[in-house]
Amino acid sequence: MAERKVRVRFAPSPTGALHIGGVRTALYNYLFARQHGGDLIFRIEDTDSNRFVPGAEEYILDSFKWLGIHFDEGVTFGGNHGPYRQSERRDIYKKYVNQLLENGKAYIAFDTPEELEAKRAEIANFQYDASVRMSMRNSLSLSKEEVDALIADGKQYVVRIKIEPNEDVVVNDLIRGEVIINSSILDDKVLYKSADELPTYHLANIVDDHLMEVSHVIRGEEWLPSAPLHVLLYRAFGWEDTMPAFAHLPLLLKPEGNGKLSKRDGDRLGFPVFPLQWKDPKTGEVSSGYREAGYLPEAVLNFLALLGWNPGNDQEVMSLSEMTQLFNLSRCSKSGAKFDYKKGIWFNHTYIQQKPNEEVAELFMPILKEHGIEPAFEKVAIVVGMMKDRVSFIRELWDACSFFFVAPTTYDEKTAKKRWKEDSARCMTELADVLASIEDFSVENQEKVVMAWIADKGYHTGNIMNAFRLALVGEGKGPHMFDISWILGKEETVARINRAVEVLK
Ligand code: GLU
Repeated sequence: MAERKVRVRFAPSPTGALHIGGVRTALYNYLFARQHGGDLIFRIEDTDSNRFVPGAEEYILDSFKWLGIHFDEGVTFGGNHGPYRQSERRDIYKKYVNQLLENGKAYIAFDTPEELEAKRAEIANFQYDASVRMSMRNSLSLSKEEVDALIADGKQYVVRIKIEPNEDVVVNDLIRGEVIINSSILDDKVLYKSADELPTYHLANIVDDHLMEVSHVIRGEEWLPSAPLHVLLYRAFGWEDTMPAFAHLPLLLKPEGNGKLSKRDGDRLGFPVFPLQWKDPKTGEVSSGYREAGYLPEAVLNFLALLGWNPGNDQEVMSLSEMTQLFNLSRCSKSGAKFDYKKGIWFNHTYIQQKPNEEVAELFMPILKEHGIEPAFEKVAIVVGMMKDRVSFIRELWDACSFFFVAPTTYDEKTAKKRWKEDSARCMTELADVLASIEDFSVENQEKVVMAWIADKGYHTGNIMNAFRLALVGEGKGPHMFDISWILGKEETVARINRAVEVLK
């Protein structure tokens, strides 16, 4: 068979916020498409009107915009396989439902919910399949006249696939290998409902993958149970030759590894499971997002990429384009991936370190503004360059380095007790004079002059430096002392020392 053009799709249902597992699915599709010079399609699967949530589609699109995942085709992206919203494709599905009815691969069923309920009560493990379908009310058990009369009467019905029992259905999965399932365990799934004139997920999904010329279906493990039915549907339509290859991605597990990751795990341990903050339009409940929690999008993508895949060596930090080169479905694992959110924090830390100081400063400026200060950008960039290796989130920069921008008004009591000695006030007054007299206030020159003064006076270097730090910072933390005084400048440094002397005596 000729090589097909790689065409993959991310096909969320707009039922709420996009789960972080969905983001990983989209990312793997993205990497696969880019790697093969293929197309990535964004399709909205909104045929289940009961589960439709307003705002969910925009939310999903905003999430990918933030993450920097671009689609080639689909809702809001255009393309010539549209429309890409399933609710806008009713007529298309109708045609294909009729095709299955005409060639006997599907049938019409009139059983009401009450009748189905009664059957379930009557038969243990009831399943609508070959063993019971002749005892139900459908176009196989009723005469053509009866069926026509019921439809003419306006009775609601569904269309079910007619699954032949006792046949081994093979799903070739690029990650899991051959998955074989006996058709007898499958039920005659509903493909279409007359009530809303809409297909179910299964039919719409297969018809669209076919019409949109999808070559590979890369999706979460939760869809693996549907795969045999999907294979049978391709066959029922006579589309075996262009059936996409399947790849079912491993589950994301709780950080402890016991069971599927849920929003509750995030609430319990304090990490988001959604890319952006989400407000449930019904309950008003607000769930946190990676963006609002202060994660960099590139760190989130790198973190997610390694949940279920590895490049075959121990390289962890990878840009999107590096991942694109290295990605390989055959290196995806079958077993679930523990959601090690602390690793996510480590990635954020690492990406902040790698980011140019100017870019980190750009992100820090709004936080400074929130605190009521607007320092010169150049100063912020220098400070950030000195301090960024100490934080995992941009907002932590405030605690780490606010003293560069605001003079201490109080002095940490414990530190003061330990580090402000009998003679500190006198020594600091001298130091202020020494510093005030320095022409060249560079780090090196300050250090040279101050050290010479200490040696000349026979002072204890540690004591001087400790008191000096307390005076400038207000506590015992911070980088190299002369870096601090250099950034503060001579005037501010001297003023802070004098103020400390006054307050601490
Ligand atoms: N609409 C399904 C979902 O919400 C798509 C499953 C698939 O990719 O086939 O995930």
